[in-house]
Amino acid sequence: MRLTQFLKQYDTEQKSIEFFRIQRERQGIKCSKCGGVSMHWSGTKTLWHCNGCGYRMGLRKDTVMENSKLPYRIWLTVLYLMLMTKKGYSAKEMQTILGHNRYEPIWLMMHKIRILMGKRDEKYQLDGFVELDEGFFAGHRKKGDKEDGKPFKEIDRNEKVLVAVNKNDHGAKFLKMTVVNSLSKLDVSYEIPKMINKSATVITDGRRCYTPLAQLVENHQIHIIRNKKEVCNTFPWVHIAISNAKKKLKGIHHHVKNQYMQNYLNEFTYRFNRRNFNENIFDRLIIAVLACAWCV
Ligand SMILES: [Zn+2]
Repeated sequence: MRLTQFLKQYDTEQKSIEFFRIQRERQGIKCSKCGGVSMHWSGTKTLWHCNGCGYRMGLRKDTVMENSKLPYRIWLTVLYLMLMTKKGYSAKEMQTILGHNRYEPIWLMMHKIRILMGKRDEKYQLDGFVELDEGFFAGHRKKGDKEDGKPFKEIDRNEKVLVAVNKNDHGAKFLKMTVVNSLSKLDVSYEIPKMINKSATVITDGRRCYTPLAQLVENHQIHIIRNKKEVCNTFPWVHIAISNAKKKLKGIHHHVKNQYMQNYLNEFTYRFNRRNFNENIFDRLIIAVLACAWCV
């Protein structure tokens, strides 16, 4: 669905409520209190009544929208813009598009969606032939933010990110980007099993932090890199992904605070992994987003 068509179709709060109700009922409504599945909808109160225990379950309950006071139309529009358009948006731009008078709720909503995007991608591990390397992303940290209980003195710090891409003869398939505390063997060993399946073949450079991969995956290939050109030839997709992610972060969000870096990378990888989805996949993606119980 094109943006203009979408905005026309869901131009009122009532139509947006109806959209979310239909989507949630399609995936099956279950009472949060007793687990019963016999529920009836009360349109005037925007909730379902449980026929078993009488519990009244709001439309936002157990979704990313829980505890939010923002109108459904705003949620639907932001989800559409974040999922279906190629361009990413900063919270400031989104606030302008929506004509909303407050920045903070829009910022918070977008971060909740980014966290959910990360949770969706956490369900999958990369398999087959995987390129793995590290990237350094410029983060921004306010003077006085604390790290290990001590005030942090620097303004800017490079965030270390493990980047893995699995590929086949046609090119890159799926991407994962994970912020790590350090490039130590311990931190790398902890993150790799979450990113890459044990049966994969993984190619890395000779950095010592990757030596535990010999035990973590079936086949670990090490390529000693001698110059910059060799990096691009050996890890082409990882470096394209790093370069594109950096451009996007710098171009759209400018100064990304370190503590939110993973959220922005979640959005980038979520979009990348679904770049070949057709326009009509929107409903499916919305179901995926609504299916995640909000528990942060
Ligand atoms: Zn019930």
